[in-house]
Amino acid sequence: MRWSQMHIPTLRENPAEADAPSHQLLLRAGFIRQLMAGHYSLLPLAIRVRSKVINIIREEMTAIGAQEFTLPAMHPAEIWRRSGRWEVMGDEMFRLKDRKGADLALGMTHEEIFTSLATELKSYRELPQMWYQFQTKFRDEPRAKGGLMRTREFTMKDSYSFDLTQEGLDRSFDLHREAYVRIFARLGIPAIPVEASSGSMGGSASTEFMCPAEVGEDFVVHCPSCGYAANIEKATSRLAPAADAADPGTPERFDTPEVRTIDDLASRFGAPADRQVKTLVYVLDEQLTLVLLRGDHALAEQKLADATGATALRPARPEEIQEALGALPGSLGAVGVTSLTVLADDALRGRTDMFTGANVDGVHLRGVNVERDIAVSTWADLREVASGEPCVQCGEPLQVQKAIEVGHILKLGTKYTDAFDVTVLDTDGTPKKIIMGCYGIGVERTIASAIECHHDDKGIVWPMSIAPFEAVVTVAQPDDEATASAGEQVYQQLLAAGVETVIDDRAERVGVKFKDAELVGIPLRVTVGKRGLADGIVELTDRASGETQRIPLDEIASCVRKGIDSAK
Ligand code: ATP
Ligand code: MG
Repeated sequence: MRWSQMHIPTLRENPAEADAPSHQLLLRAGFIRQLMAGHYSLLPLAIRVRSKVINIIREEMTAIGAQEFTLPAMHPAEIWRRSGRWEVMGDEMFRLKDRKGADLALGMTHEEIFTSLATELKSYRELPQMWYQFQTKFRDEPRAKGGLMRTREFTMKDSYSFDLTQEGLDRSFDLHREAYVRIFARLGIPAIPVEASSGSMGGSASTEFMCPAEVGEDFVVHCPSCGYAANIEKATSRLAPAADAADPGTPERFDTPEVRTIDDLASRFGAPADRQVKTLVYVLDEQLTLVLLRGDHALAEQKLADATGATALRPARPEEIQEALGALPGSLGAVGVTSLTVLADDALRGRTDMFTGANVDGVHLRGVNVERDIAVSTWADLREVASGEPCVQCGEPLQVQKAIEVGHILKLGTKYTDAFDVTVLDTDGTPKKIIMGCYGIGVERTIASAIECHHDDKGIVWPMSIAPFEAVVTVAQPDDEATASAGEQVYQQLLAAGVETVIDDRAERVGVKFKDAELVGIPLRVTVGKRGLADGIVELTDRASGETQRIPLDEIASCVRKGIDSAK
């Protein structure tokens, strides 16, 4: 391709609206333009990257025996009602009506549609099946942000597996897991597979592929010593045993005027945070519920959802709390409360001589024995792991890192095949429910993540495997006939060697061309200039290291070819 004929609208300045490096660079380097919040046009350079990402994913899906489909992006409401998700998906689902008034949805995922196709499977002999597609998903995200990172319209590679047995599902899941490891390695993305919550999808095992990055919206708990890795929504850590004083026998009330927080009670009344019971009030599916944690621990909301199966969850409002407990946050407690469900974190088990609110403003209790004095209905792991806590597997300190979720694989079980009554005849002729898994990679989010991992102050530094071009031939003096024709010659040689090349033949200053090539992030640059040509030499510059070598004209094509092959 010729740069002079391509549409690569690079910008000199950083766009004010972008914070994430990938967002800034995709705009500046002329890859994307925003149509409205969460919706982007992909320009020619982005399309080149996107097709490479798609090809790598497709090759690895083919390698595990998956078959490609394309399903509609627009769905009848009926199919979503059948699985119960027409309601569950709430405001995240884009809904519309056709001219006859029929309810429709723009697909945010495709379990329902693939499952309905699976009704044509008849015999165990046809299993296993793995089906996938690249398809646009629509999600009315509450906060679209980060350029391509979180959009309302994006391409997902989604696959679905159909097996006769649990062991079969395990195998399909492992095949996907291994394929995903290979895909992210080939894409140059250092994704870590982590244990995750199954969330609203309703399944047993769930693994997310997390790309560590400052702009990530997820938190990953990771043990550098043994490799334990889990999403903070799911992660656990070892608890140091707590040393409680002797149980005084009964709780005692004491006045705590002006005490509002855990810290107030700690500093003014000598109640260390790890000897306090923190009482949170949540509304879980319309039910007011008390949630108890140790004073120095934070709640992981997803764990609360997982422990209760609640689909709607929010902190209660002060007036709801006042009405139910007669006090405001700051003096809340669960001692003697029998009218509400009480959930308690495992870290409170067996604790004695604890401090907590007395449900009277400005009054607390000391000497509380949690299991004796509080009617806990459910014990669960509810607390969020913090950096430095001992690893649950090996006891070494854990790290909490920010990360971007680039992929997600999940064992679904029979949730959808139950809803759509999908059975096959087993070996003995009896009908058996098919067991499913589902597996997703966000294509554009993956592109943004690659940039988050590979950029510098000059621009993007694409991994060779997904660069929009492998090499650029920069003609330093295009108005000099000899230089222009040498540039053309090098360009033709590179094309002949199978190198994806763009020739920068624009009538621009060489400095501008260098800046653009660096901003766009092309891995190899061949500079053809008057001075070098006098000695039969061109320059080969590596984008990542910035190193330049002088190469004889007749060796440049094989040199570039070698550079590419060793980078892939
Ligand atoms: P998130 O927690 O980030 O909202 P999710 O759990 O909703 O993600 P899945 O439903 O598992 O995501 O979708 C599979 C993959 O699709 C994700 O791993 C991610 O790569 C991509 N993805 C999901 N939502 C978006 C979005 N709004 N924009 C771009 N990519 C997305
Ligand atoms: Mg989401």
